[in-house]
Amino acid sequence: MTKLTALKGIGEKNAMLYEKLGIETVEDCVFYLPRDYIRYENISVPEDLKPDCMNAFYAVVVNRPLVKRAGKLTITSVMLSAGGVAISAVWFNMPYLSKVLTQGTGHVFRGIITAEADHYHVRQPAIYKKEQYESLLGHINPVYPLTKGLTNNAVTATVGRAFEYLDGAYDARLYDMHFPKDEDTLIKARSSLVYDEFLSFLIAVRMMRSEENALHNDFNIMESAVCERIIERLPYKLTDAQRRVWGEIRQDLCSDRSMRRLVQGDVGSGKTIIAHLSAIMCALSGWQCAIMAPTEILASQHYDNLKSLLRSSGCDIKVVLLSGTMTESAKKNVRKIISSGGCDIIIGTHALFQEKVSYKKLALVITDEQHRFGVMQRDSLSSKNETDNAHILVMSATPIPRTCAMILYGDLDISVIDEVPAHKLPIRNAVVNESYRKKTYEFIKKEVLSGHQAYVICPLISESEGMDARNVTDMTKELSGYMPEGINVSMLHGQMKAQQKQKIMDSFAAGQIDVLVSTTVVEVGINVPNATVMLIEDADRFGLAALHQLRGRIGRGPSQSYCIFMSSSTNEHTMKRLDILNRSNDGFMIAEEDLKQRGPGDVFGIRQSGDIRFKIGDIYTDSSILKKAAEDADLILKEDPSLSLPKHRDLKSRVEGATRFSMV
Ligand code: ADP
Ligand code: MG
Repeated sequence: MTKLTALKGIGEKNAMLYEKLGIETVEDCVFYLPRDYIRYENISVPEDLKPDCMNAFYAVVVNRPLVKRAGKLTITSVMLSAGGVAISAVWFNMPYLSKVLTQGTGHVFRGIITAEADHYHVRQPAIYKKEQYESLLGHINPVYPLTKGLTNNAVTATVGRAFEYLDGAYDARLYDMHFPKDEDTLIKARSSLVYDEFLSFLIAVRMMRSEENALHNDFNIMESAVCERIIERLPYKLTDAQRRVWGEIRQDLCSDRSMRRLVQGDVGSGKTIIAHLSAIMCALSGWQCAIMAPTEILASQHYDNLKSLLRSSGCDIKVVLLSGTMTESAKKNVRKIISSGGCDIIIGTHALFQEKVSYKKLALVITDEQHRFGVMQRDSLSSKNETDNAHILVMSATPIPRTCAMILYGDLDISVIDEVPAHKLPIRNAVVNESYRKKTYEFIKKEVLSGHQAYVICPLISESEGMDARNVTDMTKELSGYMPEGINVSMLHGQMKAQQKQKIMDSFAAGQIDVLVSTTVVEVGINVPNATVMLIEDADRFGLAALHQLRGRIGRGPSQSYCIFMSSSTNEHTMKRLDILNRSNDGFMIAEEDLKQRGPGDVFGIRQSGDIRFKIGDIYTDSSILKKAAEDADLILKEDPSLSLPKHRDLKSRVEGATRFSMV
């Protein structure tokens, strides 16, 4: 490995920016794959400018750029003339552009043009020197994920230098992923890498399964009338699907094999109660059960729910919460209780379970919202000695088509909760553009004044260079100003400390916060039934699966809920995708539609759709490669179950590294 500073043009300061992207070495550059590609349009003559489309045009700066501040936003605006055609242009948070755009200079601009009453307008166009733009024409150019201070051009140049530096000592397919000669080369390189990636992953999963086949049920767990009593006392009736899945789990727990079961159920289908009943059944037979949640907030929500469920049932089961926000000594204390057998059910985040926890008598591990972890982490837990044969129950809302699920989770039995509680009113959806902003705020105000709560989701935490997407910080200010006195608008995002996040989520759950402006940290699992509105800003920036998960935070109580997808996109394809959400609340259907609309091999689309994230592959768009890799994995393992043949040496080392390479 060679430090990045070995490359020309990368100093210590620059290297720190790259570190933010996860690039520390020259070799890392090779694996820093583009998130998209651009093919540059030919430079249009003025009469060919097309409104609502991406255009590249040559224009001269007519006046001195005007730099204005609006709150925290800096807006740079200027008038351009493209062969006499007037075009007004604006940029956000790029004040230094006024130095580039001096009066009378000519540049190539590339952006989406809109037609105003008497002139064209372009927002945030990219700026090029004419020769520079011409040199880009005809190529497929990489678009990288960026961070503040690094432009796409800079990253592209660095990646290019990294390849030069490595002088041929790299996988040629990776070079083609960055700098493909043509579309064909790109598709070929990508398919081949995706195939390798899937194959190693699938073989790893299958090898685990075959080891697990031998696992037998070491725990004597019995059916209990207490569980039935708890079910009877619930404020609702279990759905048929919940009953069926509960039956399957009971059967597993009492069988002579260790359970390996995935429960798939759309958001709001009621997986929590099933998880809790399983934990209780296990505890009643004298064993310990661990429940892992992806976030602190979800862990403590599990804790509160389970405690109140147990309180009303009157049975003597001790639950502990192992939280990252606890002091070291408090954690130590809880670990002691766990190892001495002084508690029956342990709830925490997966991070905590990766630290050293020893159990007295662990019999069941429940993982909620599995997709946040990745399959490998599940197994890193079960490979601990004490937990070797523990039953494993995984709860997931990931709406992956069943065929994909069977391939990916080949090591698990699958139960599906394919029904949502009947009393629930389906969420009403709307996809709207900026012109509905005022109406939308009024609507939120109305709902909040009638005692309900609202979520507002933004893609960014704070303003970001060159992006005019909405951010949590400014939205919170804007909405606080808009809402009447006494309405509490607060924000939540991933850069806050765990404790602070927890406090905010708790106040939201307790109804002290009326409008919660947040990033996607609220995406999984949170249950606040009084929240009835969700506004998702720049909805086109999220994948369908993520949007569906987000929306699942509302529609959880008896009142009608509303989800508003705000987007200023004029791209027909994008709007068609959003419309899928508009038409349906069914996660499985959404996943299938998404697959159909995008079609396999759509390498120029949004790459990562589902919640199962591979580095390159996408289980939806690459479903045919996935299928082929699954077939080959079976053939290979049939011939060589432990991959010990010389011809499988490379494959074997890839399989061993599958954790690192495949799952994010
Ligand atoms: P998820 O499957 O997304 O984890 P939850 O388990 O959080 O969903 O359940 C969502 C909401 O529905 C909770 O408020 C829960 O109490 C409620 N719920 C669960 N099962 C039923 C049911 N059979 N009838 C009515 N409400 C239910
Ligand atoms: Mg849940």
